[in-house]
Amino acid sequence: MDLQKIADGVRLILEGIGEDVTREGLDKTPARVAEMCREIFGGMENQPQIEAEISEEIDTEVILLKDIPFYSMCEHHLLPFFGKVHLAYAPKGNRVAGFSALTRLIDVFARRLQVQERMTSQIADAVMEQLDPLGVLVIVEAQQLCISMRGSKKDSTRTVTKAVRGDISVKNMFPFD
Ligand SMILES: [Zn+2]
Repeated sequence: MDLQKIADGVRLILEGIGEDVTREGLDKTPARVAEMCREIFGGMENQPQIEAEISEEIDTEVILLKDIPFYSMCEHHLLPFFGKVHLAYAPKGNRVAGFSALTRLIDVFARRLQVQERMTSQIADAVMEQLDPLGVLVIVEAQQLCISMRGSKKDSTRTVTKAVRGDISVKNMFPFD
């Protein structure tokens, strides 16, 4: 990641909106934003990885992880969108994934410039590839600040996206029913 280039760009934006980039309060902002980008776009430099674990005593048909928080950035406006990921998968045999492995995988895709639909698909595809379950279902509920802050300012609007892969039945399992 080219932090100098990011800082230069931020300085241009500040000048563009008519700010004095040398005033106290703003003089360190370009460098701060660049450093922040290293973290919030850290998924650019990572590959999603799940180490499957072999569970001795698994007799569940579906494993459901609810309300996993995420923060991402809209690639159209460079504003945050954030909310919760719900992820259900039907394990093949006794291959399961640790909770932290799945939350790390979600972070890899969230910490990039994204659109919600693509992020939802990427998470589902990566779980299919890496964990090889019978099926996976991913639902993402988000608030998009580019909707909340702009135009009609519908602050309570939530966007919900869903991706299903393989064979999975989640009947009667909130929030999937
Ligand atoms: Zn946007």
